[in-house]
Amino acid sequence: MRKLYHFDCPQEVYQADACVISCYDVRFDLPIRKFVKRRGIAVYDHVKIPGSVKAIVSPDRESDRDFVLSMVRTSLRLHQPGRLLLFAHNDCGAYPGVPAGAIAADVVKAAEYFAAAEPALPLESYFCDFDGIYEL
Ligand SMILES: [Zn+2]
Repeated sequence: MRKLYHFDCPQEVYQADACVISCYDVRFDLPIRKFVKRRGIAVYDHVKIPGSVKAIVSPDRESDRDFVLSMVRTSLRLHQPGRLLLFAHNDCGAYPGVPAGAIAADVVKAAEYFAAAEPALPLESYFCDFDGIYEL
């Protein structure tokens, strides 16, 4: 093994302020990071999935839904996040030609799914458009 890059990072296991699910579309990466910080969330587990909550509401494979839930539950077990934030965005490649309202509706459906699966976990639902982030 040959070291190519040096950095120092904390070795302690952390407690997360939140778990965040979003698409990996880089156009919304910085706005989401800034928004989350503004919501008082400094440390979070970020689950990035192409299409975000589509993997919960209408997954390509049924196993995708279980996989996403297992990622959230792993976050809960390891880092005890105090809330789950769900983001979807306009013009998502996983939703070709789908109107913004229908994508936003999937966030609400995903929130209902997580509320049933993890009733003690507070939920927040958001839709990212090109002019801002909207609460659902
Ligand atoms: Zn997307």
